[in-house]
Amino acid sequence: MNRYELIETLVPVLKDTLVVCNIGIPSQELFSICDRENHFYMLGSMGLCSSIGLGLALTTNKSVVALEGDGALLMNLGTLATIGNRAPDNLILLVIDNGSYGSTGDQATYTNEATSLAAMARGGGCQSVIECPGDETARVLANALDAKQPSVIISKVVPGNRPLPVVPLHPIVLRERFKETIQT
Ligand SMILES: [Mg+2]
Repeated sequence: MNRYELIETLVPVLKDTLVVCNIGIPSQELFSICDRENHFYMLGSMGLCSSIGLGLALTTNKSVVALEGDGALLMNLGTLATIGNRAPDNLILLVIDNGSYGSTGDQATYTNEATSLAAMARGGGCQSVIECPGDETARVLANALDAKQPSVIISKVVPGNRPLPVVPLHPIVLRERFKETIQT
């Protein structure tokens, strides 16, 4: 299972959540599979999906799922300590770990070697950390949403990108419709 195939299985589970999606091909894939107003497609700030998700979760009672990538999380590891100490019950950090910087040419990340993002999350203080294969992730995510506690899910998939155009929505449209979704 690759990232696109994984996202296809996640979309039904994400229906009633606020979704912050990692910049680049992950956002293009999510948009292509299903565009909804509860999706915030990042158009910049690689590495900050988890931080945006945390800030959002602290300001709303709705469930927030930060759809992060392994390469992006490796750029912002301090976030795991912040989440480990300050995450509210409505935040789920779901890391799609394909061992690859997918949006920049599929260069391998260190999660192919000795680096464990799950171990790093636990070391950062995150209490509920689950690493699972891609095909179990939708079920794990649904359980995490039901549990109503901050969770980190590391979903292991294989590299690979679906060739897709960029998300065609204007940034202001994206921002405004997401703001409305937060407030309703
Ligand atoms: Mg990746």
